[in-house]
Amino acid sequence: MTVQGDNAELVKAQYRAFTRQMPMMYFILLSSTWALALTHMGLAPHWLTLGVPSVLSLGCLLRVTFWFRTRNVDPSPALAHAALQRTNRLAGGIAVAFTLWSFALVPYGDAYTRSHVAFYMAITVISCIFCLMYVRSAAFIVTLVVNGAFIAFFVSTAQPTFVAMAINIALVCAGMMSILLTNYRNFETMVVSKQRSDALSDENFRLANLDSLTALGNRRAFFAKLEAELEKARVGGRRLALGVIDLDGFKPVNDLYGHSVGDRLLVNVAKRLSETLKASTAFRLGGDEFAIIAPFPPENDQLVANANTIAARLGEPYQMPEGIVHISASMGIAVFPDLALSCEELFDRADYALYHAKKRQRGGAVLFNADHENKINVDARIESVLKQADLDAELSLVFQPIIDITDGSLIGFEALARWDSPTLGRVPPTRFIPIAERAGMVCALTRPLLRKALAAARTWDSPLRLAFNLSAHDLNAYDAVLAIVGIINGSGFDPQRLDLEITETALTHDFAQITHAVETLRRLGCGISLDDFGTGYSSLTRLHALPLTKLKIDRSFVTDLHQKPSSYKIVKSLLALSADMGLDCVIEGVETKEELAALKTLGGSQVQGYVFSLPLTAEAAGALAAQSARPLGKFAV
Ligand code: C2E
Ligand code: CA
Ligand code: CA
Repeated sequence: MTVQGDNAELVKAQYRAFTRQMPMMYFILLSSTWALALTHMGLAPHWLTLGVPSVLSLGCLLRVTFWFRTRNVDPSPALAHAALQRTNRLAGGIAVAFTLWSFALVPYGDAYTRSHVAFYMAITVISCIFCLMYVRSAAFIVTLVVNGAFIAFFVSTAQPTFVAMAINIALVCAGMMSILLTNYRNFETMVVSKQRSDALSDENFRLANLDSLTALGNRRAFFAKLEAELEKARVGGRRLALGVIDLDGFKPVNDLYGHSVGDRLLVNVAKRLSETLKASTAFRLGGDEFAIIAPFPPENDQLVANANTIAARLGEPYQMPEGIVHISASMGIAVFPDLALSCEELFDRADYALYHAKKRQRGGAVLFNADHENKINVDARIESVLKQADLDAELSLVFQPIIDITDGSLIGFEALARWDSPTLGRVPPTRFIPIAERAGMVCALTRPLLRKALAAARTWDSPLRLAFNLSAHDLNAYDAVLAIVGIINGSGFDPQRLDLEITETALTHDFAQITHAVETLRRLGCGISLDDFGTGYSSLTRLHALPLTKLKIDRSFVTDLHQKPSSYKIVKSLLALSADMGLDCVIEGVETKEELAALKTLGGSQVQGYVFSLPLTAEAAGALAAQSARPLGKFAV
């Protein structure tokens, strides 16, 4: 006969269901009470027909008022439980009061009014019981009080009609109680199963937003949070910082030690990342990419300092059972509303800053700044002009000699692209090639360039070689490779004298496709050189998988190598590596006699650089090629 309070959700659901029925219950109770009082006016004394109903009505109205005031409050489970207990107690009291009042009226009337009393009690209680359905105990108490008294009283009159009514009511009561019990049980089941399905969908939501490896929020959670935080920042007039992190050197770890070590490394990175953050949240966007949303960023200088601290922490060595693993983390940052106003802008610009960090400040943080924005705008202009350019007319090539320093002879030339735009003037390839790659139009540049380079090289005497640069995008699609093969075959230049250069970063693209393309070109007879060797992070396993013929050591290791022990050692080991792999090695960007002398002591043989020659026009290269056939055509070494 009490309300159970062990299931908080059930209690709240009971409370909500009951309070919806409550006004209806009091309305029926009071209207039928006053109807009964009316039929007894003049028969019973005023205190019974007016006084008592008024007092009872007042009590009921107070209850309804109380309900009306609290109708929009979502109660705590404890509060709901207390309210239902109170209803339980009040139900008993109210039932007793109304029952006593009804009986008090019986002696005053005739058979009609007495029947009205019986009718009133029997019918009103049924409606009240139904309204109390969700407070099962209260419904029982009311049934017991009203119907118990009803049956006892009317049986005791020994009047056959009333006795029949009493029996009738007893049966109706039993039926009603059983319906009520079933209904209540259904209600309970419904609440509990809704509770379960809510819990399940909460769990599903949690899992859908979670990165299962690191337990950080995933990409979906990241964009949802970024959107929400940006809105808050906008409304609150606050700044918001976004940091995008990419690990440097993660892929080689994965290649060398296997994926399970890579996975554990990512878990450790995520752990360190979470530990370094205070008011910010970290996410894993996928692969070795992470992001941080900082809703309360400090001033820019401090922000970058904090970001560098985080990057430094992530770059500390990782102690793994397989050994100590070294990686670093680069970060790009963008701040709302400084130079980014929307989610997309924030993300794109942080990503842009990350690209710069990876290029110039590996292991550190770069904040997107006005220079970057300016460069984005200029790049957009270059891209639009490039798209409308007459590529055949505007693109040309210069040729830089490659020298064998063991005897000073000319080995061949590397073709380097030049673009003279009528609107922009001369644009360097370091500028327009990456733009063309990003715009997906580099293949359209490669074709006329390769045709022109081969046409120029056809005039050179054998065995002079042509080196030509390809972009990763040239090898990414099968039809692009076929086009290149077609151009080479149609040129009349012996493919055996052609070296196609691809950069190390090309190997981070679809490796299987790149390998396939390289093999196709090798079958044709072309040599394949790995350009800018040493600047990327390609693992040795990957290098071995490619049928390369040459490595080109990047000029960043050559500059001042005679004075820089670190560069000297690197060039020395790269030369040893290429010898071990049975590959030729070209050393690029040699500018001074001192560098050249140092390279000679290291046993380098093929050299390219300003110390011998700047890139030459096609005519000048042709003249040099003609001269090199004669014994005099030697470079001073
Ligand atoms: P790269 O393939 O590494 O080419 C060597 C770059 O170093 C050339 O710059 C060359 O002029 C420059 N260089 C040569 N010797 C020296 C030196 O002693 N000191 C210095 N400081 N620089 C030297 P360039 O012509 O501006 O080309 C830049 C890059 O643009 C190339 O780097 C290559 O990655 C790309 N590129 C050039 N032409 C093409 C092309 O036809 N297709 C593609 N896909 N990329 C090209
Ligand atoms: Ca090159
Ligand atoms: Ca190079």
